[in-house]
Amino acid sequence: MVTVVAFHAHPDDEVLLTGGTLARIAAAGHRVVIVVATDGHMGDAADPRAGERLAELRASAAELGAARVVHLGYADSGHGPLLYPDPAGRRRFARADVGEAAARLADLLREERAAVLIGYDAAGGYGHRDHVRVHEVGRRAAELATGVRVVAATRPREPVGSAIGAVRRLRRFGGRNAWLEPALYSPRRAITHRVDVRPFAARKQAALAAHASQLAGPGRMAGVMTGLTRLPARLFGLVLGREWFASDDGPPGTVAFDDVLSGPPDGTEDRWGSAITTR
Ligand SMILES: [Zn+2]
Repeated sequence: MVTVVAFHAHPDDEVLLTGGTLARIAAAGHRVVIVVATDGHMGDAADPRAGERLAELRASAAELGAARVVHLGYADSGHGPLLYPDPAGRRRFARADVGEAAARLADLLREERAAVLIGYDAAGGYGHRDHVRVHEVGRRAAELATGVRVVAATRPREPVGSAIGAVRRLRRFGGRNAWLEPALYSPRRAITHRVDVRPFAARKQAALAAHASQLAGPGRMAGVMTGLTRLPARLFGLVLGREWFASDDGPPGTVAFDDVLSGPPDGTEDRWGSAITTR
């Protein structure tokens, strides 16, 4: 058994990019710990809505089979051109001291004797500033804790980019928009793992449904997420049945291999040192 720590920015991020993989790792008998930098709330920690998002995260983690949930105590930084002032009693994660946040995560990695840390790619996925900071803090924490392999949850950039290009042409978006920057996610050549999580589609879907507050809002994203929770599980698996990861120590441009706990397939030059495998 090994311990995998999945470091995320906000409650619900654990599902879309990594939910199936975490469920698969837990089902194989490993220990999964989910850490969130923020509680997804922009206000004071005392506001009951902050606790609500964490309660949803715990319910989601239970669906995925995670053993432990930890909140680093930061507030959501939000997105848009302005970074709001810190709420009473705590910092926004985008304003966190990287060294301080990394030291706390490193303590947890040591306590858990973590073998793998799942973080984000350098783009912070779609570019939210809290997600970029997850990348920075995760990297630093792994350096401090030593002996932890870092694997970035991501998606291949190309299909995302082409979909955005199509939307752009259709809607004639203008100006800079963080959601539409071409540098989002990772280039396909950097992807080292493509994990088939279709057998865990129902778990992933149930975990998504646990984030009830995110499904209830009036926004477009809430509508998309609600629609996903209502799909038959097989169809959900077709839409969200693959998850992607990029690891520095995999061969560049490698053919994706299907397990974040294992190194390259047989016959590939082994650059993983003491590769951990579930096989
Ligand atoms: Zn997020």
